[in-house]
Amino acid sequence: MVSQHQNQAVGLNRYAERRARLREAVFQPKRGTPPDATLIVQSPNLRYLTGFTGSSAMLVLTPDREHLLTGGIYATQIAHEVPDIPKSLIPTGTEPYEVLREVLEGLGIRQLGVESSVSVATLRQLRKTLRKATIQVVPSGSPTERLRLVKDEGELQTLRSAIAIADATFEHILRLFQPEIAEWDIAMEIDFYMRRQGAYPAFQTIVASGPNSALPHAQPTERRLQVGDFVTVDFGARYEGYCSDITRTVVIGRASDEHRRVYNAVLEALQRSIEAIRPGKRGKQIDALARKVLAKHQLADYFGHGLGHSIGITVHDGAGFSPREKGRLQPGMVLTVEPGVYIPGFGGVRIEQDVLVTDTGCEVLSQAPVELLELGQ
Ligand code: ZN
Ligand code: ZN
Repeated sequence: MVSQHQNQAVGLNRYAERRARLREAVFQPKRGTPPDATLIVQSPNLRYLTGFTGSSAMLVLTPDREHLLTGGIYATQIAHEVPDIPKSLIPTGTEPYEVLREVLEGLGIRQLGVESSVSVATLRQLRKTLRKATIQVVPSGSPTERLRLVKDEGELQTLRSAIAIADATFEHILRLFQPEIAEWDIAMEIDFYMRRQGAYPAFQTIVASGPNSALPHAQPTERRLQVGDFVTVDFGARYEGYCSDITRTVVIGRASDEHRRVYNAVLEALQRSIEAIRPGKRGKQIDALARKVLAKHQLADYFGHGLGHSIGITVHDGAGFSPREKGRLQPGMVLTVEPGVYIPGFGGVRIEQDVLVTDTGCEVLSQAPVELLELGQ
């Protein structure tokens, strides 16, 4: 049996490895001069690099030192979750960046790299405070976000669980696809069922029926399902900090020829895209392929979003498949593939799978059925 202590040691090693990889990216850049230190403030990045699950802290990394700062509200939690990094507690009522300035001065920092995703207000405040110590603040891109795109073994295991919960949830709600059931009753049952399995909704659950299904990001309403509706459900489970994201579309009653024509076109786009995924391909190539399949069916004009996105600590966890995505796929990336066709007044179809890029292609992780289901008859 593995003790809790051993488990934590494995976790701490994993976080230390990630910080080592980040250091390599920041302090041994292919071009340009590296800063003396880098500052991490985004909570998904803090979680990834240290295991801290709270919402507010600052991590300073230099080539050979590290330091965490947080407020008193997280004192006990951070001591437990991140025992291996020296810390400063920001006293209540103290300006956090003043404490940061003292830490940076203690470490002899002259130039601090800051994540590009920080807000303009944060950047301005940092510059103002650190100017007093003549510490220069420079943007350092998104190196942690780039590392987060490729999942390690532990992350894959957690993602597989998050996806399995979503699959089981779809199975559980199949009996609710019946005339007179309201969209928001299905949405509540989805959320409730995920909670019962120890997960949280990863984002606001979408249940869109009939004409509402033509709105890709529709919010559930009190509309009751009717025979002849397409019903799209899009939801995901956040389990142990990692998010799944799946979409299925069903028909209430018997599918018409038009239902089948649209559904089969989207399914073909999904399957062709998945077959084409392999390391080295660019995100935009896969996106273009899906558009080509839909164009063959005269449906390309009804596909108004990117084909997919990375999933992980956040549900839109970075680059994926879109017409602008030039990045190349790498083994270990976990992405959604979600072609859709939305016809105003008639309805829409989206089918979304979660896939893992492997050495030779991809593995489809979501298992809920993708063939057209005619329900509630
Ligand atoms: Zn989704
Ligand atoms: Zn998605």
